Amino acid sequence: MTLEHRIADVEERLKRACERSGRTRDDMNIIAVTKYVSVASTMDVIRAGLVHVGENRWQNAQEKWHAARDLAENEGLGAAHQAIWHFIGSLQTNKVKEVVGRFSYIHSLDRVSLAAAIDKKAADLGIIVPCFLQVNVSGEDSKQGLAPEELTAFVKELSRFAHIKIEGLMTMAPYELEPEQTRPVFRGLRQLRDELNQQSATNEPVTGLSMGMSNDFEVAVEEGATWLRLGTILVGKEEE
Ligand SMILES: *Cc1c(COP(=O)(O)O)cnc(C)c1O
Repeated sequence: MTLEHRIADVEERLKRACERSGRTRDDMNIIAVTKYVSVASTMDVIRAGLVHVGENRWQNAQEKWHAARDLAENEGLGAAHQAIWHFIGSLQTNKVKEVVGRFSYIHSLDRVSLAAAIDKKAADLGIIVPCFLQVNVSGEDSKQGLAPEELTAFVKELSRFAHIKIEGLMTMAPYELEPEQTRPVFRGLRQLRDELNQQSATNEPVTGLSMGMSNDFEVAVEEGATWLRLGTILVGKEEE
């Protein structure tokens, strides 16, 4: 399948998921996860108009990040067609200085030491970084993120970091052969967000829900996802 076909296929499935759940397509964004593909394929993704691009490791992303910047200059891409980078993987504190300022969103904030590093770099740059707090809703040992019961205290601690904006919550569901099985995880993340807002835990309401991947995005949409992180199904997967 070509990229155009994959985009059309995902859009069709999104449309149906929206119809089933009474949602609007405009209320969600797709992040094209390019970690499985080459620099050239990543540029094709951006040219195709998928401007939200997700990578999970700075080492693998840096060449693509620079290529995307060159692409915007060389092909005269207007502001609306320039890549917006999302850091979706676990972020080591020593990589923060590379990532903050280059990636517009961080989806994996899960500890105070990381928040402190992000805040410091953002302060140096004079920017505010929108971050998603990663929650391990499923409780799987292999998954990163805060335990659900740690979330409220963590949000309180973040209030002292003036250069971090809590954009939303993020989770990864376990891989299930039957995607329907992921529903409680996505519903759980939405409930955690709603609880934060009921407690008025933050100055502004928390809106974002970064959830749903190739295998389970339709269920995530039905449960209120606002950012879908799609790799294989959208961008494809290339052999190394
Ligand atoms: C790789 C990755 C994705 C995309 O995975 P697919 O299943 O290929 O869609 C989404 N989110 C995170 C955090 C990832 O690491």
